[in-house]
Amino acid sequence: MPISVHPSVEELAALLRLPDFSEVYAQADRVRARHKGDVVQIRAILEFSNVCRRACRYCGLNCRNEKIARYRMEPDEMIEVAYAANQAGYRTIVLQSGEDPHYTPEILGEIIRKIKETGMAVTVSCGEMPREDYAYLRRCGADRYLLKHETADEQSYRALHPDGTLKERVECLRHLKALGFETGSGFMIGLPGQTMETIAKDLLLLKEIGCNMAGIGPFIPHPDTPLRDHPSGSTELTKRAVALARILLPKANLPATTSLGVLNNGEKNDVFSCGANVVMRKVTPDRYKQLYEIYPAKLSPTHVKEDRLELEEQIRALGRIPL
Ligand code: SAM
Repeated sequence: MPISVHPSVEELAALLRLPDFSEVYAQADRVRARHKGDVVQIRAILEFSNVCRRACRYCGLNCRNEKIARYRMEPDEMIEVAYAANQAGYRTIVLQSGEDPHYTPEILGEIIRKIKETGMAVTVSCGEMPREDYAYLRRCGADRYLLKHETADEQSYRALHPDGTLKERVECLRHLKALGFETGSGFMIGLPGQTMETIAKDLLLLKEIGCNMAGIGPFIPHPDTPLRDHPSGSTELTKRAVALARILLPKANLPATTSLGVLNNGEKNDVFSCGANVVMRKVTPDRYKQLYEIYPAKLSPTHVKEDRLELEEQIRALGRIPL
C-alpha cells in the first residue's frame, strides 16, 4: 500500500495495524538511504542532574519519588566530561537533566559556551522553559533542543502530567523552532490509553511542528512510579512508528532510542534497518549513572573512549558508517 504524502490519522492507524509491515520497513529504509545515507551519527549524552520539579507519572525522576538519591554535577565536571567526549571523537553532546531550576539560563549558558569551544554541537534537553530562556541558550551557542511531546492525546497528556498541558509543551516546541534550534520531539509507545489512532496523531504532530529530530521509544515501567504495573511498550510497534516517522520526515534525525535498546537486548540491527540513523551513548560518570534512573536498565560502567570505539565497531559490522 503506497503511503500518501499527507496521510490521515485513519491511514496511519491502518498502516500500524498491518499484519505484515515488511513493505513499509523496506520503504523507510530506502527513504533513509536516500536522505541520510549509510552514516549512523553517534551522540554523547551527559545526564547532569536527576533533580526534577515535575511529577510525570511514568518517570523515575519524578519529584514525588523519594527513594531516589538526587545529584547535580558541577559545571566544571560537566565541561571536563564534554572535553573527554570530544577527545574520544564525539561531534555532538546532549546535555540532559530533569527540570532542575538550580541550573539557571546563566549557568547553562556558561557551560554551553565553554563546550562550544571544542567545536562540538550542543543539544540541550532540560524540559520546558520560558521563550526568553531558550533564546538565551541559543545565543550562548546551543544548536539543538530535545523536548518530547510524549503523547499528542490531550486527555492522556493531562492524566500523565499533573503539572503541565500539551498546549504548553507544543508551544515550547514552536518557540524552539522559531528560535532556530534544530528541534527534537518524540513520544513513547505503550502509554496507558494509547491506540493506533493516538500514535498516528503523534506522528502527524511531529510533521506539523517540522521536527528535525524525533525520539520514539517504548515505555518501560519504573517500580517507584504510579505506572509501575503498566506493561512495557511493544518493540515491534515502536519500530513501526520509527519507520513511519522516517517516511513522513525524510530528512529528520531519528535515534534508535536507549529504551528500545534496553527492551531489544541491545539489538540495534533491526531499528537501523527501519529508518533510524542516530544512536546515543552515555558519557555520564559512573557515580551518577545509576541514579539517572528514568526506567530500570542494566548499565555497564562508562569508559568514554572505549565505549565509543566499541559502538563504532558494531555499526561497521552492520555495514553502516559511524560518525
Ligand atoms: N526533563 C527533560 C524533559 O522532560 O524533556 C529531559 C529528561 S526526561 C527524563 C527524558 C525522556 O525520558 C522523556 O522525554 C521521556 O520520553 C523519557 N522517559 C521517562 N520515563 C520513561 C519511562 N518510564 N520509559 C521510557 N521512557 C521514559
